[in-house]
Amino acid sequence: LEVMKEFGCHNFVFSSSATVYGIPKTVPLVETMPTSCTNPYGWTKLMTEQILQDVTKTDPELSVVLLRYFNPIGAHESGLIGEDPNGIPNNLMPYISRVAIGKLPQLTVFGGDYDTKDGTCIRDYIHVVDLAKAHLCALNKLKSDPHSIDAYNIGTGIGYSVLDIINAFEDATGQKVNYKIGERRAGDLPAFYANPKKANEILGWHAERNLHDMCEDTWRFQKNNPNGYKKD
Ligand code: UDP
Repeated sequence: LEVMKEFGCHNFVFSSSATVYGIPKTVPLVETMPTSCTNPYGWTKLMTEQILQDVTKTDPELSVVLLRYFNPIGAHESGLIGEDPNGIPNNLMPYISRVAIGKLPQLTVFGGDYDTKDGTCIRDYIHVVDLAKAHLCALNKLKSDPHSIDAYNIGTGIGYSVLDIINAFEDATGQKVNYKIGERRAGDLPAFYANPKKANEILGWHAERNLHDMCEDTWRFQKNNPNGYKKD
């Protein structure tokens, strides 16, 4: 923020996270719901949101959009830009694609006894290109509405279970995903998805890519780059 001020840059799009809703009482999540955190990553997002709120009050030139990302997955449709996590992935989709390409033997589904339609956790997966486009909409909003700060959920509003994701990946790619149902992972919530109406109406942003696209694009990048960005 200090460096931005020094160079006369007054527009800030912050990559926040839906994790700032902590353990919500109800879903879908709306921006007016209380925020809290259950882990250090979440605190980095929430504290930064707070700092931006505070600085916006004292700096009349600063304008901020807080984008609360849900679960970004997928890759650029060219197959050239995608996700290349270090080591063993923690997140579901990169784990699935590494099992499909044969780099990892088996996916463990974390818990099959949640109170959901098939017992596995529900999340709101958003195509990374739709997420990128939300940033362009945020920049337009900053131009048309200076000296403001506001938060927006960036998700599709549709909740998919872990088994939905595995099935969709298999359908879209023709690859089998070897998986087993395992123990729950500490800290996982049963169901977590957005109400994206505010971003739809105020930012003029809509998710345009569906789960099939997310799986197809993930696989294209993985297939074209079996070792990620490494040359060997
Ligand atoms: N998940 C899983 N196995 C894995 C990784 C994730 O079953 O190896 C589940 C996890 O329990 C959650 C969902 O997939 O319900 C998405 O997890 P991820 O870590 O990608 O994102 P999170 O929602 O935790 O931010």
